[in-house]
Amino acid sequence: MERKIRLKKNEDRRILNGHLWIFSNEISSIDGAPGAGEVIRVENAAGKFLGTAFYNPHSLIAARLISRGEEEVDFQFFKKRIEAALALRRRLYPRAETFRLVHGESDYLPGLIVDKYNDNCSIQSHSYAMDARQTLICDVLESLLHPRGIVERNEASVRSLEGLQARKGVVRGSVEPVIIAEHGLKYSVDLLEGQKTGFFLDQRENRKAIRRYAKGSRVLDCFCNEGGFSLNAAYGEATGVTGVDSSEVSTVRAAANAATNGLNAEFVTADAFDYLIDSAERKKRFDLVVLDPPSFAKSRKSIIKAKRGYRELNLLALRVLEAGGILATASCSHHLFEETFLEIINRCAVEAGRRISMLEWRGAAPDHPVLPGMPETKYLKMGIFQVE
Ligand code: SAH
Repeated sequence: MERKIRLKKNEDRRILNGHLWIFSNEISSIDGAPGAGEVIRVENAAGKFLGTAFYNPHSLIAARLISRGEEEVDFQFFKKRIEAALALRRRLYPRAETFRLVHGESDYLPGLIVDKYNDNCSIQSHSYAMDARQTLICDVLESLLHPRGIVERNEASVRSLEGLQARKGVVRGSVEPVIIAEHGLKYSVDLLEGQKTGFFLDQRENRKAIRRYAKGSRVLDCFCNEGGFSLNAAYGEATGVTGVDSSEVSTVRAAANAATNGLNAEFVTADAFDYLIDSAERKKRFDLVVLDPPSFAKSRKSIIKAKRGYRELNLLALRVLEAGGILATASCSHHLFEETFLEIINRCAVEAGRRISMLEWRGAAPDHPVLPGMPETKYLKMGIFQVE
């Protein structure tokens, strides 16, 4: 019997509007007893064909659409999808060798992330079906890019929701730390030990964007990781740059990156909240504060706590900002919608008695495309404000 699912009445609306996920409570019937990771047909309540999907009976996201047509999921399928993703990146960044090659749902490869760092690839699967096809995906990457090595960074906590274990390691060839170039700056990236897949590629354009505000400024880069914003601030002729991160591995690597580029910046291993509180108490002032925290809301349930976290953080930043200073503040949680994030920032300013004006409202770099019909793909937002 053909493997297929039928949706409940009206549950096709979101799908027809561009969304790719079908939640388990939206399904009215399942035929052919599909197992985890198998390919299924999706129909609406009236039996009209909606597309082909990957299925996982153990996940709340029961199906992820991989095509609006009928499609064989084989080497050719992945080759076609990854070729299209590569063509887009070559168009966006003709001279770059480092970029996000596959951004999951946005590249019509739901649950798959592939980052390219020079001649190495780093892959992550967030869905059971993608994980099960990792060998096939590596074969396609080898045929298209001939990488020196491929690593898997299958450690994301969302994997547990799909019934997947954490895994990390070299899966093809050999991998050594690489020196990547971004807007004229060099960073050493350790594909196995760096956070996420090695580097936070999504902030690429935002790191460059703060250069224009840095000249002559005392800059504080909170959650600096391996120094991305700090180095750009120093490059933009800041008078002083301090990067703060709770991970010592990160601050040590950030200092090494500054040295490689011949730039001056100090890096402190500390909790960013504590550092801000301490600076405020000591009446230390900055002209530019960057806030790029990890996601405070990893699930919809944690949103209230997360909002409190963003609120507290932004209030603290306002306390150390000089009049006329710049606040560059980000959130990478897709559970926190951008209107809500903007509202939080505004309320912080009102509460702190500071007038703020928005200069820029930015998102992730375009190698992390957004599907307008799928808000989950619009996760990163960064507002740049002048604070009076
Ligand atoms: N701005 C960076 C990316 C930041 S990622 C870039 O451009 O590359 C978030 C960082 O926050 C991670 O490096 C993590 O180690 C750090 N972090 C997490 N919790 C923290 C805390 N409470 N205080 C300081 N740093 C923290």
